[in-house]
Amino acid sequence: MRIAVGGIHIECSTYNPVLNEEKDFRVVRGAGLLAAPYFAFLKDYDAEFLPTVHARAIAGGPVARATYEAFKTEFLEGLKALLPLDGLYLAMHGAMYVEGMEDAEGDWISSAREVVGDDCTVSASYDLHGNVTQRIIDALDMYSTYRTAPHIDVEETMRRSVAMLVESLKTGVKPLLLWAPIPVVLPGERTSTVDEPAKSLYAMMPEIDEIDGIWDASLMVGYVWADEPRATAAAILTGTDRAVLAREARRVAKAYWDAREEFVFGCETGSLEECVAKAVASKTGPVVLAESGDNPTGGGVGDRADVLAELIAKGAEGVVFAGIADKAAAEACYSAGVGAKLTLTVGASLDTEGSKPVTADFTVKFLLDTSEPSDRQAVVSIGGIDLVLSAKRRPYHNIVDFTRLGLDPQKAKIIVVKSGYLSPELAPIANPNLMALSPGVVDQFVERLPRLRKQRPTYPFDKDFSFEPKITLSARSVARAG
Ligand SMILES: [Zn+2]
Repeated sequence: MRIAVGGIHIECSTYNPVLNEEKDFRVVRGAGLLAAPYFAFLKDYDAEFLPTVHARAIAGGPVARATYEAFKTEFLEGLKALLPLDGLYLAMHGAMYVEGMEDAEGDWISSAREVVGDDCTVSASYDLHGNVTQRIIDALDMYSTYRTAPHIDVEETMRRSVAMLVESLKTGVKPLLLWAPIPVVLPGERTSTVDEPAKSLYAMMPEIDEIDGIWDASLMVGYVWADEPRATAAAILTGTDRAVLAREARRVAKAYWDAREEFVFGCETGSLEECVAKAVASKTGPVVLAESGDNPTGGGVGDRADVLAELIAKGAEGVVFAGIADKAAAEACYSAGVGAKLTLTVGASLDTEGSKPVTADFTVKFLLDTSEPSDRQAVVSIGGIDLVLSAKRRPYHNIVDFTRLGLDPQKAKIIVVKSGYLSPELAPIANPNLMALSPGVVDQFVERLPRLRKQRPTYPFDKDFSFEPKITLSARSVARAG
């Protein structure tokens, strides 16, 4: 059986003004796609996998229109060259926003369907922070999404999506796909599967998979920083028994709706000023202070210096701050060399309107030795603060991100990261974890975001309304079910 593989994987805050261009994506194509670690699992399945193109970027702002069109054209041309195809596997995120285009995955997936034709079976895997529309459901045959946030089941999810596809092609059994949108959209930080109620809601999924007539149960949290009509949670089920699928989709949607008021942040939160004051006064350490409004892995810019300014103002000691994306400041450090003292203007280099930079005297402590200019990272110190300046937007979620820069997070009194909920490596060392509900384009105070395009009513923006799940089959399932 011939199965094409491809997709585009990005999460875009529509409030973020910094466009993503081709250089911001890691692109694998042709033989390089199949050789990528991300797709290594495909070799475990008895099928011929045919690569097209897969483009992936960390979360951010909108995708530049020309960049999107170039990737889409390459992908569709790749598919055309591979026809006829038995199957297509799409590895997606689901929260892409393209300049001037809503429901970008709907455009990508429906265009793919037009090329591969009605007889081809199409399966997609998603991030649970993706948004779905009827157009997307109509173009697919099967669907699976992550069941953990932070995401530790990425490969497992991709495997579920591919396993269904291979099984369907082997047996000739074509499943039904249906969904129930849920008018709730909450930040990932209030819906971590480490905490209740998401933990119990997601524990339902593998149990539902076991029911006869069901192949996969998916629950989407959705992506709240997309000001689009499609931004909602959803239950999406794949299987063969229409009545059972509808019953379980309704049950999942109802359970999520009923729990809506129980979703709260999993750690202590406060304003930026409150969190810095608490961190400075803390008797235990390391305090891990997450600056949530500027979290690049959630779609934030990652260049704000407000927390840095507050730490300097409060004379904070023993701080490791990783990091602020500022290419010019990082370059200046490389030019000056280790040990140099220089005046730097740090922050607001990408989103120049969004925040204020800090201008002060710093000492260069460390420069990462790298041949890749975009990977350049400098450690500078000011008072009791060691600050990482990176040439590009990037997260610091793993211990090695610190140790490769000569920083020991365990020995810090305060660690500052631009993050929402903490990564699996940072969470265990936090003593305690504080999340600053700081300003930025991924503001966790979602109720204070401008809402021009979101559906009304949607919780938590609207509170006084009732909801009964409505089940909709995919257009292809309607034709199949008769
Ligand atoms: Zn996600």
